[in-house]
Amino acid sequence: MILSLQGVTFTYQTRDAETKAVEDMTFSVEEGEFVGIVGPSGCGKTTVLNLLAGLEKPSDGEITLRGGPLSDYRGREYPIALMPQHDQLFEWRTIEKNVLLGPEIRRTKGESHVRRGRELLDKYGLKEFAGKHPSELSGGMRQRAALIRTLMTDPDVLLLDEPFSALDFQTRLKVCDDVHAIIKGEKKTAVLVSHDISESISLCDRIVVLSKRPAHVLEVITIDCDKRLSPLKRRESGSFSNYFEKIWRLLEDK
Ligand code: ADP
Ligand code: MG
Repeated sequence: MILSLQGVTFTYQTRDAETKAVEDMTFSVEEGEFVGIVGPSGCGKTTVLNLLAGLEKPSDGEITLRGGPLSDYRGREYPIALMPQHDQLFEWRTIEKNVLLGPEIRRTKGESHVRRGRELLDKYGLKEFAGKHPSELSGGMRQRAALIRTLMTDPDVLLLDEPFSALDFQTRLKVCDDVHAIIKGEKKTAVLVSHDISESISLCDRIVVLSKRPAHVLEVITIDCDKRLSPLKRRESGSFSNYFEKIWRLLEDK
């Protein structure tokens, strides 16, 4: 087990209100696993990722990484990286310079990062675009570049928050395949938040189904299928609709 949440609760405190977003949440993630989080809009999914990313601290409960408290990690040692909803590439920087942003901010940038950046851009089909600016790339390529940028800090766990929501349907299917191939190719552990049930089933090994706010775990569903299949191929497999129906029912009932 790489990551574990035990009884995690989180309440937003604003000047005149308290909003409990997460309640008594317990689940774990195995090394190399792709775990999905699905739940109704506004239930607390992004909040869960923000807790994992260290942007918020649990009001109660504990999050551990490889058995130690996640709260022990700080700054450049922080082992979990969040890929934001929109790619957030900087238009005034080339793709290569965008990819090298993490090490540059952490002031650790060196020859090895430059090499690694080029290697990843090359491996995942962006070599010719390294010197271009984000606006010269398609939505799918931008998302790939954003993922490579997130991988540059070599995180233990990668968090993805609705990473395909800005893309049209056709592009989404293709980017889903690309992202899956990159994450599996780099042997990364990933947690994906999405409100798209089909997308989650096509990408994930297990899916944590959340209730409406405050989010708690309704059920954790293991997606049993040939792990070598790409997300697109998985959509065509026989059991796909069974999983869809199961999750749909769970969300509808609550
Ligand atoms: P989801 O990602 O599932 O759509 P969020 O985690 O973004 O949901 O939000 C869960 C709840 O917490 C929502 O009711 C939202 O309004 C509230 N919320 C989110 N961020 C804040 C914040 N910074 N301050 C106060 N309330 C917030
Ligand atoms: Mg959200």
